[in-house]
Parts: sequence; C-alpha cells; structure tokens
Amino acid sequence: MAYDPENIFAKILRGEIPCDKIYEDDTALAFRDINPQAPVHLLVIPKGSYESLDDFSDNASDAEIAGFFRAVGTVAREAGAVEAGYRFLANNGPDAHQEVPHFHVHVFAGRDLGGMIKRAP
Ligand code: 5GP
Repeated sequence: MAYDPENIFAKILRGEIPCDKIYEDDTALAFRDINPQAPVHLLVIPKGSYESLDDFSDNASDAEIAGFFRAVGTVAREAGAVEAGYRFLANNGPDAHQEVPHFHVHVFAGRDLGGMIKRAP
C-alpha cells in the first residue's frame, strides 16, 4: 500500500493541523494524543513518510531508526515516566486496529497500566 500523504499525522508534520507538541528533533516529533487513554498518553512519530512499523523497519535508514528510538526514550524520560514505569506500543495493520497510517508509537504512563493485553474472547 502506498503512503497516504493526506493522513492526519502527515498534516500535523506539515503544520496544517495543530498539535500539543512536546518534543521535536531531526528525525521525530512527539505530541499529546487527542483522546488520551492514560494520564500521560504521548505519540512519537518519525518525520519520514512511513505508514507502519513494518514499513519503517524495512525501509528507513539506520540513522532514522536510531534517531527515532532515541527520541522515544527521551520523550519518556522528559515526561518523568521512567521511575514509575511506562508502556510503549505500536499498532501495525488491521488486526491491531491501526487507525492512522503514519508509523507512530504510543507512550502511556501516569497510572498502573494493567496487564499487557486483553485476552481474546
Ligand atoms: P492507532 O490506533 O493508529 O495506533 O492510534 C492513533 C491515535 O491517534 C489514537 O490514539 C488517536 O486518539 C490519535 N489521534 C487521531 N487523530 C489525532 C489528531 O488529530 N491529533 C492527535 N494529537 N491525536 C490524534
């Protein structure tokens, strides 16, 4: 599937839609999720046009990948989430209910986040 440049995170990257930005560097942008599922719910996205973790891990340069994951760690540290703990999660594709087709990771913190995944029915 080709990358859709009209997805909402591409529009945020281009400055066409506002976001509550908390971090930015050469490779990544981080902002608050519009519909938070925890007291701290942040999204970290690469600046490059990758639709999913699959696309990113297959096609991004080593510098983009290293820069992105360093940014995730920095964002969690700057949010004060390291000591109590946090979760990072990436939804990839339909079974994971990925809604926005620009690779992103969620960073959740600020409460006991419970078990890792709900059991399938
Ligand atoms: P996904 O299911 O794709 O992993 O998660 C997409 C996330 O993007 C959701 O948690 C949703 O609340 C968030 N989101 C969708 N549209 C916007 C937006 O316009 N701004 C922000 N900040 N978050 C958004």
